[in-house]
Amino acid sequence: MSTDDEAGDRADEAAGVDEGYEAPRVDENYDAGEIDDGRDATTDAGEASAAETDDPPRRVEVYPGKEVVVEFDPELTFECVEDCTWCCHHGVLLYDRDLIELAARANLSETTTDFRAEKFVVREEKGRDEHVADDGMACAFLGDDGLCELHLADERDWKPTRCSVFPLAVEREDGELHVDVRDSAREHCEGLGVSERRVIEELEAFLPELLWELENPDSDRIL
Ligand code: SF4
Ligand code: SF4
Repeated sequence: MSTDDEAGDRADEAAGVDEGYEAPRVDENYDAGEIDDGRDATTDAGEASAAETDDPPRRVEVYPGKEVVVEFDPELTFECVEDCTWCCHHGVLLYDRDLIELAARANLSETTTDFRAEKFVVREEKGRDEHVADDGMACAFLGDDGLCELHLADERDWKPTRCSVFPLAVEREDGELHVDVRDSAREHCEGLGVSERRVIEELEAFLPELLWELENPDSDRIL
């Protein structure tokens, strides 16, 4: 049941942005022009972290009055790669609000498990060769077609919070919400740096509003 990697998103859905989406406001510290250091942002943006530079923190207002400190290179782009389901081969951390939502859609006793006092979606043996990890297992909700059964069954397109966040990761530092690229995504996610879609302009698609309300939003906890 355990895995060294973490759960994530069926990211073609994570990458989806509502048609009515309005780009979040970036504070005055952000200047796209000042980021150009000569690197090819479409190829190595996922490798860089703004925290590793001397640039001042970039705070983006994702929802009214709710800012996030952006640690990744603001030139980072993302687009989920078709047929890749790597981030759905793992167990998914569930925040309390996720549990309430999931209970309305699935049998929690069959689809969730406890690990280190946290709730996770279980991994299960799939009996197939595609859309599974090396051990033949994947998230309980990853269907044979490589799509998330929760998305398909839900007109609101609901998914666990951390599935929305991937390939990003959030944590709280000094009372502020910080967001960076997830370490495992840097290693495994093929969707980083392959498109023109700048993540910093679509943070609302990755960061559900409830993250600002959580005492411990750290999304790096793994099954
Ligand atoms: S709940 Fe859905 S999106 Fe999240 S890991 Fe499982 S299959 Fe993927
Ligand atoms: S690992 Fe990246 S490219 Fe692969 S399914 Fe997840 S988000 Fe998409």
